Amino acid sequence: MEKNVVNNFGSFDVIFEKGNGSTLTDINGKNYIDFVSGIGVNCLGHNHPELVKTLQNQVAKQIHISNYYVSDIGLKYAKNLLETTGYDKVYFGNSGAEANEAAIKLARKYGYLVSTGKMASTNGTCAVSDKKRNVIVTLEKSFHGRTIATLCATGQDKFHPECFAPYPEGFRTIKANDYDCLESAFDETVCAFMLECVQGEGGVNLVDAEWAKAAAEAARKAGAIVIADEVQTGMGRTGSLLASTDLGFDPEVVTLAKGIAAGVPMGACIYKGIAKDVFVAGDHQSTFAGNPLAVAAAETVLNILKEKEFLENVATMGEYIRNTVKSWNLPCVKEVRGKGLMIGIDIEETSKFATAGEVQKMCLAAAENGTGLCISTAGVKTLRFLPPLVITKAEVDTGLEILKSILS
Ligand code: PLP
Repeated sequence: MEKNVVNNFGSFDVIFEKGNGSTLTDINGKNYIDFVSGIGVNCLGHNHPELVKTLQNQVAKQIHISNYYVSDIGLKYAKNLLETTGYDKVYFGNSGAEANEAAIKLARKYGYLVSTGKMASTNGTCAVSDKKRNVIVTLEKSFHGRTIATLCATGQDKFHPECFAPYPEGFRTIKANDYDCLESAFDETVCAFMLECVQGEGGVNLVDAEWAKAAAEAARKAGAIVIADEVQTGMGRTGSLLASTDLGFDPEVVTLAKGIAAGVPMGACIYKGIAKDVFVAGDHQSTFAGNPLAVAAAETVLNILKEKEFLENVATMGEYIRNTVKSWNLPCVKEVRGKGLMIGIDIEETSKFATAGEVQKMCLAAAENGTGLCISTAGVKTLRFLPPLVITKAEVDTGLEILKSILS
């Protein structure tokens, strides 16, 4: 396999064949509880009957049309998504990085319109300025994707190696939850402030709601718009449809991907208010954007997420996992944190495990003696759980038993 496929990620000695609910099965028939869900993608688990039916029906009707036209399912889903989230417009894309690229382009155009006096900014000023308004402020430890621009937005040096240089200019990072930096971070050169509500790849770091509101206010006072990168936190992952609603900083732009279509590649950038009319026809597009198969899957996902008690269960199950791991009182567990089903567990520096990756491998290898466990990592010492949002208590208990026996 390695001869033919670019080895993007570390490879494990397991080849998966199929999945059912929150369990994956490898080609040797061994089962694994899935606490990864395709890195927060398979929110409905594997082989969800409603999703399967939707996709089968859609395949038989229409897989792709060009973006010269709109599909009936695309229009239906756009209306549903916007009415449910309270946003005005949507750009459909194919991935998280693409959703963020769209948001970055929107922010830059907004900055251009404001500094050329063609549009009033979030602080109400409307005048030609000799200062270009094109800087996007992001957070240290953030992750926004792997295209060149989203790498620049990403506040982690390890994602900026020399081999990909030169990088585009116009990005500045600040520290999450730090009030002192806010005044100097935002000036008339800033067009947008972009943040994750819980930093995923950066280590499952929670952003404080009061700070997020204060930072958004500082950004708007300086005339910038606010973008929530909800590629990982959005669509129910943290127990709310949008984590930004829960934090209360009311972003003008929200980007979505991962769980939006439960495994069919898709991203979306939704925007409202002052950001609503920035993009005009021709400003941004992609061949596959709004793909009927993807939007049909997304429509099914959204309708399931809206069902009574679905999101409550995400919050309850997340709390149950965190409390259970804490209750073990294991010396190798330094900290347990997270929101909904986005959970990080720090491994104690001095523990017998040199890295979280070591624990990850042992969880997979547990399949040799019965059932294995798929978990993810975020950084060297953090275990990361992103189970399907439909995971049951019985599946959680089986997964946690495996983890406990390894960590004990
Ligand atoms: N933004 C965030 C917060 C992410 O977690 C990710 C991926 O992990 C991305 C953007 C990039 O998404 P994709 O890999 O779909 O391009």
